[in-house]
Amino acid sequence: PVDRLPEIQAVRLQLPVLAEEQMIMEAVRENECVVLCGETGSGKTTQVPQFLYEAGYASAGGIIGVTEPRRVAAISMSHRVATEMNLPDRVVSYQIRYEGNVTENTKIKFMTDGVLLKEIQKDFLLKKYSVVIIDEAHERSVYTDILIGLLSRIVPLRNKKGLPMKLIIMSATLRVEDFTENKKLFRTPPPVIKVEARQFAVTVHFNKRTPLDDYTGEAFRKICKIHRMLPTGGILVFLTGQAEVHSVCRRLRKAFPYRPNREHTDSMETEDGKKSKRTRKKKNVSLPKISLDNYSALPVDEGDEDRQAGIDEEDDEGSDLELELGDHPDAGQVALCAEEKSDPSIPLYVLPLYSLLAPEQQAKVFRPPPPGARLCVVATNVAETSLTIPGIKYVVDCGRVKMRFYDRVTGVSSFKVTWISQASANQRAGRAGRTEPGHCYRLYSSAVFGDFSLFSEAEITRRPVDDLVLQMKDLNIEKVVNFPFPTAPSGDALIAAEKLLISLRALEEPPRRGRFGELERAGLSCPITPLGRAMAAFPVSPRYAKMLALGRQHGCMAYIITIVAAMTVREIFLNYDRPAGSEEENSKMAGKKARSAQMRRVWAGQGQSLLLGDLMVLLGAVGACEFGGCTPQFCEDNGLRFKAMLEIRRLRGQLTNAVNAVCSEAGVYLDNKLAPPTEAQVLCLRQLVLAGLGDHVARRVQAEELLDPKWRNAYKTPLLDDPVFIHPSSALHKTLPEFVVYQEIMETTKMYMRGVCAVQAE
Ligand code: ADP
Ligand code: MG
Repeated sequence: PVDRLPEIQAVRLQLPVLAEEQMIMEAVRENECVVLCGETGSGKTTQVPQFLYEAGYASAGGIIGVTEPRRVAAISMSHRVATEMNLPDRVVSYQIRYEGNVTENTKIKFMTDGVLLKEIQKDFLLKKYSVVIIDEAHERSVYTDILIGLLSRIVPLRNKKGLPMKLIIMSATLRVEDFTENKKLFRTPPPVIKVEARQFAVTVHFNKRTPLDDYTGEAFRKICKIHRMLPTGGILVFLTGQAEVHSVCRRLRKAFPYRPNREHTDSMETEDGKKSKRTRKKKNVSLPKISLDNYSALPVDEGDEDRQAGIDEEDDEGSDLELELGDHPDAGQVALCAEEKSDPSIPLYVLPLYSLLAPEQQAKVFRPPPPGARLCVVATNVAETSLTIPGIKYVVDCGRVKMRFYDRVTGVSSFKVTWISQASANQRAGRAGRTEPGHCYRLYSSAVFGDFSLFSEAEITRRPVDDLVLQMKDLNIEKVVNFPFPTAPSGDALIAAEKLLISLRALEEPPRRGRFGELERAGLSCPITPLGRAMAAFPVSPRYAKMLALGRQHGCMAYIITIVAAMTVREIFLNYDRPAGSEEENSKMAGKKARSAQMRRVWAGQGQSLLLGDLMVLLGAVGACEFGGCTPQFCEDNGLRFKAMLEIRRLRGQLTNAVNAVCSEAGVYLDNKLAPPTEAQVLCLRQLVLAGLGDHVARRVQAEELLDPKWRNAYKTPLLDDPVFIHPSSALHKTLPEFVVYQEIMETTKMYMRGVCAVQAE
């Protein structure tokens, strides 16, 4: 029996899924697989696990597993469900890539979809689970799709063996035909239960014109208008990335200043010294607290968030990477508009929301805004379906989303802002009608809306699949083309993946061309090699897994683990290119930037180690940081992102365990006093890196080829016709070695190689 607090119970009773509990549980009892559709906020994620728990699905030895495509959701939903059920987190727990609080007593386990996929490798029948819930299936994340394909086989097998198991697929949209009408997936279509959410009318307002560039400015002006003219009710704004979110937050805080918490503010400002006088003067002002401060200063909260922004490689929205590589979405937008004149009489409580934001900061949106202030959440796509923000009455939708695109042939990736689908636009609008009738302001015309595609594409059709193919081969799924994908990746992508894995020797060479037909035909069923199996055991993509698998030589393992960990964590260095505002802020920023550049030069070392390039910088940074105790202060002082460094540490621990498990004789241990590698080791490390990134070689353009000035200091790669460059922030920017390997090519203003390391000509 669950002992819920009365106030929790009252809130639960209002959720639409509660009304359907009986119907849902009956369907689950009578079917192996059930699809549950219900609007965001109807209570699927928080309530369905509780229904199952109360119906005894966690009491006969098996547990309830819930997968989420985003780490944010796995963590916050496990906390929420634990709170609602009044159970400790050793019973309602979560597991994400490297951390979690799962115990022997865990009954409900939230995890990322990648975590469950790894578990299938160890135990194909998932005997631990009596039921698996695949949440947010509408997001069509790659791992979710694969899991559904695998579970469509696992569940019937379990039931045949007399070990009953249930599968529940939950989606926020009704578009579930890819699961239900797919005969390869489910021979008898699973029943679809639709939860009617109480949805109030949302009036949609289209813009007459569609701003082509300055949609953040347009969003800002729209918010100002809403806030000045319309009745109370929260505002939710959809933008595309972190930088945009911060820029609009900053402008809004300037226009409608709101000073959050006096005590907190006081202590922060006294530390700063300069502002304490002004604060003292304000001491006697009564509530609500309104700031008469210098508005150009970065609000206390925001600076904090910048420092804490964490890493989440599952999410590609609004990376700072782009800023670092030269795009400035804010540039040219500094002119003040009429709305920007500060008006402290109507405070606005502005909160940013994006997936890289620290969980404590994210949690703020669930709490009611301070009395007298209107809530305004400036968000990226995360607010579309994963998280429900209470009290939203107005939605402002820029109609765009930032996505990472991969060129299928060259592998070059770039972030692009594109139009959303009609389905997404309607999801966004729906956020406004949860508690009362609302309004959605679309910053584009109805004609433009009419040109949107109806639905968003599944992720699996948009990205390389080498990691998936390797995982599937390790599950002995040899003919990947025959796998029951809800949406199959393109043939090209499967071939590219298979070719890469063959070149990494993770798969066996196919029979010779011509004799048994084309690689394109034969290649798609190449079996996995022992090396491939070792690689599949590492929770990183195949290129990095290969480096780990070979890393034992010459005592390089600890180094290669560190390099791989650092390469797979995003945004290690703090970014100081963001326009700060005041002169003073700008010069402070410039100082920090110089310091950061200097530290990178120090970490790059000299002589041999310099040739390891950006990877030496990573190694040096991690070594120095660990030596300095990996404190927030050390990171701040040296231009490192504290959260990234913590994640690298955890990942190093995890990779060390994985290496020891795969080859016990390796005997590596996690040493935080990482001595610099010797010259011989540096040479060996460069070879290891080449072994993993062998298809990412670039050669410096020779003098005799230099006909066109656009090839100055450029590199040539086998697959690209255009020049690629070493980024000015790279350790090898001045050295320009003849041959280099790179981690990836990112297209911004030019094509830049990231993570560059010099290699020897063969
Ligand atoms: P769904 O999965 O159908 O989108 P959820 O189960 O996530 O719905 O959310 C149900 C309700 O619980 C929402 O109204 C949401 O605002 C509320 N809720 C979710 N998480 C929290 C939280 N951490 N704090 C307070 N309320 C929450
Ligand atoms: Mg949900």
